[in-house]
Amino acid sequence: MFPTHDEIDLWYEKGQSLIWHPFTQMKEWEDEKPTIIVSGEGATLCDIEGNRYLDATSSIWVNIHGHRHKSINQAMKKQLDRIAHSTLLGLTNLPAIELAEQLIQIAPKGDVKHKESGEAEKLTKVFYSDNGSTAVEIALKIAFSYWQHLGGEYKRKKKFVSFSNAYHGDTIGSVSVGGIDLFHAAYGPLLFDTINISSPTCYRCPIGLNYPSCKLACVDEAEKVLKKHHRRLAGLIIEPLIQAAAGMLCAPPGYLRKIRALCTKYEILMIVDEVATGFGRTGKMFASEHEGLVPDLMAISKGLTGGYLPLAATLTRQKIYDAFLGDYAEFKTFFHGHSYTGNPLGCAAAIANLKVFKKEKTLEKLKEKIIYVKKSLMSWRRWKHVGDIRQVGLMIAIELVADKKTKLSYPLEMRVGGAVCQEAKSRGVLLRPLGNVIAIVPPLSITLDELEKIITVVGAAIRKVTAKK
Ligand SMILES: *Cc1c(COP(=O)(O)O)cnc(C)c1O
Repeated sequence: MFPTHDEIDLWYEKGQSLIWHPFTQMKEWEDEKPTIIVSGEGATLCDIEGNRYLDATSSIWVNIHGHRHKSINQAMKKQLDRIAHSTLLGLTNLPAIELAEQLIQIAPKGDVKHKESGEAEKLTKVFYSDNGSTAVEIALKIAFSYWQHLGGEYKRKKKFVSFSNAYHGDTIGSVSVGGIDLFHAAYGPLLFDTINISSPTCYRCPIGLNYPSCKLACVDEAEKVLKKHHRRLAGLIIEPLIQAAAGMLCAPPGYLRKIRALCTKYEILMIVDEVATGFGRTGKMFASEHEGLVPDLMAISKGLTGGYLPLAATLTRQKIYDAFLGDYAEFKTFFHGHSYTGNPLGCAAAIANLKVFKKEKTLEKLKEKIIYVKKSLMSWRRWKHVGDIRQVGLMIAIELVADKKTKLSYPLEMRVGGAVCQEAKSRGVLLRPLGNVIAIVPPLSITLDELEKIITVVGAAIRKVTAKK
């Protein structure tokens, strides 16, 4: 079943030379034998030589119920026997309709207890696309056009508020609202201007305060900005609770809800980017639910198909959708679409994904796993080079620092995070660092035994690497 040594060597050679890899220095890639994945099952990935690894990144935050899940496989095979793809331009299809109905059902409903979070409207419309970046682009374009369609004074509302350290994808629009200099600064001249708010992160609080004695002073900082600029602000885009790509930077509890209230107060559309946090990663179906809020626009992708196929959606409210209605000649049509918008096979996978959530009680079973991780990592806080441990649901981060007292980071060139992940890989756990942050984002279906292995391996790798640095 496995290929011969000669065949494997040929695959390695081609694997090094043909593909330009994302976020990868290819000079290094060309010098190293790549890991070629041939199969997966549950939380395990298997390479071409038969080595097995735990997939502790969920194949970059997409996988939910494990690889090769029986019911998702079956649902996709069933759909394949009908049709793989047809367009949403001028046509519609059954899986796209069924999925839209279910997405609206599970979308954040808000919480009557939190009156400050604004009108109890819900998300009622689904616009499909095929990746997180496009879902964000669509949200930005809809928010921009909404105010243009309303007309009058509102036509001045053309700008977006974005956060430092934000990550919303890699297309030019989503980079424009991004805030990670390492990824984004190089494209400066290509980007549109945004109004910036500093990242609401507690470990290195940008205004130098401590939670909870700060009484959420970061909200007042944000309000100053919104108050000053609101007449020209179309929208605000935020990663709810946790800025994932920046290193799982956590906002203090209550921040998100208060930002929702401010957006309502100043008539700014709130775009919540649930691409990373959606589909159970934070312990609830969507991170917005932790703070009982309903966004005006919501971008989802990564976990939508359970990690099977590229599919995305932007959900929005009725009043926003209604602003685009008119006679054809008014040209209020939303002129946006992709070749694979509403792909039936992807939608079938997503429907099956949601079915598994119900059938396997995924969210309920998550609770004990979340607590297990929290308890297991508790003692790590005392380790010399562990600066911070952050966890929201099963999004877990361990930030390594050169000096714990001053929170001094290791210089990126030292690649401490990379060294830890390399070490973990040699012990059978696949991870990707976010700079000096070791991120653990396992499939939600991971077992306690597998979690124990990941934690043991990551702990050993951190101790080994930081002892040397
Ligand atoms: C990954 C991610 C995106 C971009 O999604 P792609 O599918 O990679 O384009 C956008 N926003 C957040 C929060 C993400 O984590």
